[in-house]
Amino acid sequence: MSKPGNVWGNPCLQCGACCATYRVSFYWAEAEQRGLPDDLIEQISPWHACMAGTGQPEPRCRALAGTIGESVSCLVYPQRPEPCRELQPGDDKCVRARRRHGLGSFDDETPRAA
Ligand code: SF4
Ligand code: SF4
Repeated sequence: MSKPGNVWGNPCLQCGACCATYRVSFYWAEAEQRGLPDDLIEQISPWHACMAGTGQPEPRCRALAGTIGESVSCLVYPQRPEPCRELQPGDDKCVRARRRHGLGSFDDETPRAA
């Protein structure tokens, strides 16, 4: 889930697909640097962690609240790790995640008021 704000409003608030598609992994020390709570991260190697729940066969980040494709929020938005910041609405990973959850591309949608 990326940062808010574009001319269509923030599509991420009605999506959340990427938070339930990919393993969100990052260098272990980033968790402490950003202040991520211990119970929302899992160590996956001596040097790397992932957001809890995203290392499962059916990933879903434990920090994701709400219903995918309807209304969602990230419970640690200010502390979210780098992979969450890099993924942008409309990029390849976004499109793949939305497709996996049966959501269309933005081209299919009518622009919403900001
Ligand atoms: S899949 Fe795309 S639109 Fe959905 S939350 Fe992630 S970045 Fe936002
Ligand atoms: S930390 Fe937030 S933005 Fe990142 S995967 Fe989890 S719910 Fe999504």
